Amino acid sequence: MADQIKWDLTQLVSNADADSIVAALDRLVADAVKFRERYQGRIAELDAQGLLGFLDERDALYVRHEGPVMLAQLLYTADSTDAVAKRLNDAVRKAGTRAGQELAFSEIELGSLLKKRPGLVSDPLLKEYHHYLEKVQARVPHLLSESEERLVMAKDQNGIEAWSQLQQDWLSTRMFKMTVDGEVKDLAYGEIISFYSDPDREKRRSANSIVYSELGKDDILWSTALRSICADHLHMCEWRKYANPIDPSLLDNDVEASAIDALMKVMRKNADVYSRYLKLKAKLLGLDMLGNWDLQAPLPLAPDTKYDWARSRETVTKAYRSFDPQFAEWVTDMYERRHLDGEPRKGKASGAFCSYWYSGKSAYVLQSFNGRRSDVYTQAHELGHAVHSYLASRAQKLSNFSAGSCIAETGSIFGELLLTDQLLKDATSDEEKLAVLDTVWEEFGMAAFQVSARYHFEQSLYDAIKAGKVLDGETVAAMWTKARDDVYGDAVEWLPEMKWEWTMKLHYYIPNYRFYNYPYVFAQLFVYALYKLYQEQGKAFVPKMKALLSAGSSKSPAQLAKEQGFDIATEEFWQKGIDQAVVFLERMESLAEGRGKA
Ligand SMILES: [Zn+2]
Repeated sequence: MADQIKWDLTQLVSNADADSIVAALDRLVADAVKFRERYQGRIAELDAQGLLGFLDERDALYVRHEGPVMLAQLLYTADSTDAVAKRLNDAVRKAGTRAGQELAFSEIELGSLLKKRPGLVSDPLLKEYHHYLEKVQARVPHLLSESEERLVMAKDQNGIEAWSQLQQDWLSTRMFKMTVDGEVKDLAYGEIISFYSDPDREKRRSANSIVYSELGKDDILWSTALRSICADHLHMCEWRKYANPIDPSLLDNDVEASAIDALMKVMRKNADVYSRYLKLKAKLLGLDMLGNWDLQAPLPLAPDTKYDWARSRETVTKAYRSFDPQFAEWVTDMYERRHLDGEPRKGKASGAFCSYWYSGKSAYVLQSFNGRRSDVYTQAHELGHAVHSYLASRAQKLSNFSAGSCIAETGSIFGELLLTDQLLKDATSDEEKLAVLDTVWEEFGMAAFQVSARYHFEQSLYDAIKAGKVLDGETVAAMWTKARDDVYGDAVEWLPEMKWEWTMKLHYYIPNYRFYNYPYVFAQLFVYALYKLYQEQGKAFVPKMKALLSAGSSKSPAQLAKEQGFDIATEEFWQKGIDQAVVFLERMESLAEGRGKA
């Protein structure tokens, strides 16, 4: 059984022994050097035909070396304690850095070319690269000179990247003392947070209190790191002539400010919908009011349904089959060829992911499968990513393959909703249905409402720095609680130490990755709106969904939505997503009502 749920990575390469992989990684670097020698200093002179050759060749270079790179990376995520995995991980990181340095010139020179000859973007010969070139062109006004760009990269290493590393290392080495069933335990961060969803309310409360009281003690460290990273971003925005701190992320995510404004307005307007869910959850837990430590509590009467691997596979495949036989075929292909790693083991990366395999027109999925309903959800989610990869790799060039953050979760969240349908069909009691819908709403509440609070929090950080405020720990904490309370209203009671929640939110400390937050909100509402459309249109919707997923990044989110008949710059569109969430909520309310009467 355990053997069945380990993945088979040997398909990625023709020869999987360690020495061959290291040799293949060396060839990647050598190829990158050759490529640079051929093109550096010459891109600015290319005509349409030459540019096409350059772009195709660059794609081909990555595709040629994809297998060994993936193999080395995936082996390490599956078991970081394995000596061979360690060696290969080290080799792939070095090769990646080297190759990246060799190829860094290409984006910069491409920018210069498009500045000189903007007409190339619309040249018919470059049709397939049209949107890719549009995106490169949009960055041109914000590029510094080549030597300045190199200097920024070098200074970042010991600047914002060091602050980020410090935050990560400090968090991962904290130990927390917690009394569990009369015994005092020393727990790492990754261990103590599992008590957040413990059925025992006192354990949940105590774990939350211990973690945040402890983290608050180092507020000088966290606030200095955060302040430095945010202030650096504001400086760089000035240098690069961005009007607003959110603008670079809008370019990265290929969206317009008007769409995000409309989205956030809709979230604000619907805060009462979230309160309605939170109050229902309190009632289901038999409480007058939720404490923040109850947000992830399991419902007390929910049957403890266990899934073994076979049952999970069957349920997930059925869910995808109900939508489209082709989706089910690809999902089956993933299981059959052992592209999933489910076995929990020491040294395995925490969480779950799907790694796209472009040249194999497939994907690999990692998760730690423990037989809970949430593990089945994770599996459906990651396989939704896989289906996205099967579709886009068949339709797109590599440069257009990976969808940006706003669209990247479309297949995966949609897959979760298909699973929800399936689980509701399979459920044998109202309590089970309630538990399924609660899982859906817990996720939606966090990814849509809670994360929208983080968007406002991040905005307030930049506003404060611009206004000359010093961001010490208490100041940041006050801004955090303000943004949080705007979303939760009076539906939740917060422990005072929860004001330190921002200290461990990794995303705020990732260098050159600002405003990670709104794409999550975007993705939830976007997919919920699509799902509503599916409910209304039935099978007629299937080819539309396939076209959307096949597009990869060859079209902007606005364009993709337009092809479905939506305008993402309107509040009306985003409201459809909320409306679908309300459908789920109403179903929960009526089940809860029925339970009261039984
Ligand atoms: Zn995902």
